[in-house]
Amino acid sequence: LWLYVLRRAIAEARSVLEHELETIRTGGTWKGERIITSKQGPHINVDGSRGDILNFCANNYLGLSSHPQVVEAGIEALQKYGAGLSSVRFICGTQDIHKDLEQKLAQFHEREDCILYASCFDANAGLFEVLLGPDDAVLSDELNHASIIDGIRLCRAKRFRYKHMDLNDLETQLKESQSSRLRLVVTDGVFSMDGDMAPLKGICDLAEQYGAMVFIDECHATGFMGPRGRGTDELLGVMDRVHIVNSTLGKALGGAAGGYTVGPKPLIDLLRQRSRPYLFSNSLPPPVVGCATRAVELLLASNEIAQSVGDKTMRFRNKMTEAGFTISGSDHPICPVMLGDARLASLMADDMLKLGVYVIGFSYPVVPKGKARIRVQISAAHTDQDIDHAVDAFIQTGRKHGVVS
Ligand code: PLP
Repeated sequence: LWLYVLRRAIAEARSVLEHELETIRTGGTWKGERIITSKQGPHINVDGSRGDILNFCANNYLGLSSHPQVVEAGIEALQKYGAGLSSVRFICGTQDIHKDLEQKLAQFHEREDCILYASCFDANAGLFEVLLGPDDAVLSDELNHASIIDGIRLCRAKRFRYKHMDLNDLETQLKESQSSRLRLVVTDGVFSMDGDMAPLKGICDLAEQYGAMVFIDECHATGFMGPRGRGTDELLGVMDRVHIVNSTLGKALGGAAGGYTVGPKPLIDLLRQRSRPYLFSNSLPPPVVGCATRAVELLLASNEIAQSVGDKTMRFRNKMTEAGFTISGSDHPICPVMLGDARLASLMADDMLKLGVYVIGFSYPVVPKGKARIRVQISAAHTDQDIDHAVDAFIQTGRKHGVVS
């Protein structure tokens, strides 16, 4: 009898899962994965497509993902320090290279200290629970990244959600949360779906007026926003007014993996004692540490790399706007080509691939209904010809679908 019951339970679970998958398919929100058969870069090979494909959808903002020096540093670390630690940091998973990278990241962001995580998702999952208790409050932009939302769910502070980049609403929530012990305003520095930038100066003014701390997630800013690539806080002149920064090593800083928190030393010390994704997950692998360290060293040595994506971004934005497309966001290498209709975005992305340009359509629930788009991401590794090629392909497919004339 138990075998029958077990089989029935398994069949039931399978049918629930299949029903769920079917709902995603019929809802038109199924996310397929194209398979890349080369290394990451502006020119890639994609399984099923012939020849060289121009890649416009990686977060490889500075082109460091396959930079020879970054790759070499990864190989050196692999040879000297091995594949991995088989341990969490506090047991036997801390090597000198982990401490060195933490020190360099703290120096880069001009903060007291740094703690590494396996990802920025983990850094966001591990921060709020440690810093904030039931007597505290967190005030979060409604469009913050999913990992921030999840991290906040895990903490016991009172939650206040303010309208996207709306300083008036933030002030209302700051007034409402006056009785809390600690208060933390939480925002993405740059929002990844729109490429828009948080009004950090206004946020810091309000936070100071109401005695709150400020946290920013800089995943789409570290390395290339601001004259030295320090981030949105540098660009907007508030580096000394933002208290905590989380960011990733998985985008501009070499693109391998990893995340971190920089901020006041007592906070970083406490995270090492209490942050669950840090305490209960393996150390970053040495080759990953090696790649990221070299990326940070390159940025510390010269500001030219940080500035190398700006002109390329403007070239794409200007040419596309001249051609009649609507590009949202604020001069950021995330260039969302606004199309509205989900099906149109997906059909145009398919047609772009036929013309040798790899871009992805984004639709609900990733972006609001009726605001489907193709999110183009510019990299410093794109040549002017690559960008012109992408613009020409957009014009051709845009005309075919009646988006531009
Ligand atoms: N925060 C933001 C704003 C992101 O865009 C991402 C990545 O998509 C993350 C956090 C997570 O970063 P990681 O890939 O290092 O986990």
